[in-house]
Amino acid sequence: MAVLVLLSYEKGDQIRKISRSAISAAGKLGTEVHALLVGDHLDGLSQKASQLQGIQKLLVAEHAAYAHMQAEPVADLIASLAGSYEFIVAPANAEGKDILPRLAGLLDVQPISDVVEMIDASTFVRPIYAGSILATVTSKDAKKLLSVRGTTFEAVAETGGNATIEKIENLPASDKQLSVFKELKLSQSDRPELESARVVISGGRGMQSGENFVLLEKIADQLDAAIGASRAAVDAGFVPNDYQVGQTGKIVAPELYVAVALSGAIQHLAGMKDSKIVVAINKDPEAPIFKVSDYGIIGDLFEILPQLEAALKAR
Ligand SMILES: Cc1cc2nc3c(=O)[nH]c(=O)nc-3n(C[C@H](O)[C@H](O)[C@H](O)COP(=O)(O)OP(=O)(O)OC[C@H]3O[C@@H](n4cnc5c(N)ncnc54)[C@H](O)[C@@H]3O)c2cc1C
Repeated sequence: MAVLVLLSYEKGDQIRKISRSAISAAGKLGTEVHALLVGDHLDGLSQKASQLQGIQKLLVAEHAAYAHMQAEPVADLIASLAGSYEFIVAPANAEGKDILPRLAGLLDVQPISDVVEMIDASTFVRPIYAGSILATVTSKDAKKLLSVRGTTFEAVAETGGNATIEKIENLPASDKQLSVFKELKLSQSDRPELESARVVISGGRGMQSGENFVLLEKIADQLDAAIGASRAAVDAGFVPNDYQVGQTGKIVAPELYVAVALSGAIQHLAGMKDSKIVVAINKDPEAPIFKVSDYGIIGDLFEILPQLEAALKAR
């Protein structure tokens, strides 16, 4: 039986990188991979999605009820398709976290979240205790629901595929109005998306204020970096909460992660420890972040960041 992968996309016309990673993870299960695109007004997006590598069929479910990817109608939809699939794979992002548990309830199976490795078709590796332990989980469920971390599976290419597009005509009626969409507030930024950026520079409580994040922005401009933050910086109101990296924030694995004035609590490390190179700037030589850093600068950020900016400009 085939695998069904739920696609996640940005409003507009971009399939999220985490979905491309989910397709690559699904490919490791060794059967045919179908992708499911759910939403409203999907014409342009379905053409794009059909070109993703690694999928043989693209199912398109288009209805106003799916416009905001609310868990109730989307879980009902996937449950109606589930009979043909042994595996249902969702990205471990906000949508996957919302939809998968509800779907698991409907199908009466145990979902396995945050999978970072597929050992075989019933054995998976997932982090527990904020990523400090990797658990190997075996599932005996006939139908397996998995959410996968984008950072550990290489994303398939956006183009080069040629999946057949199948529009789902008989959509299940979803009359459960348990949640109501109010509004979507997106932070407007020209910077790369935090979860897929090649370089991330994050600030912690030691930044002291939101205004001081301008020091990080100047470096980010030089490196085409996304800006992240610790939870303490978010809770203090320095930056919006979609900047948060960590166990209860976003999971990132950039080529370069620069951690400025954040101590490196285990919950923060859970969100960035797969970064390829970590640079820490902290005035406390005992700060735990130095234990996971490839390069450490001990000193005051207000002295170091302007020097770093000048050095980058002089390149
Ligand atoms: C269930 C749970 C979930 C959590 N989820 C997350 C999460 O997703 N992400 C997350 O980040 N945290 C999370 N936390 C919070 C986490 O435990 C820490 O409290 C938090 O990460 C600390 O943030 P910080 O490092 O910015 O602050 P602090 O620990 O206060 O560190 C500030 C650092 O700044 C340095 N500093 C101060 N001034 C300067 C200066 N001028 N120059 C250089 N360095 C300076 C200090 O030496 C210090 O190391 C979670 C906690 C719990 C309990």
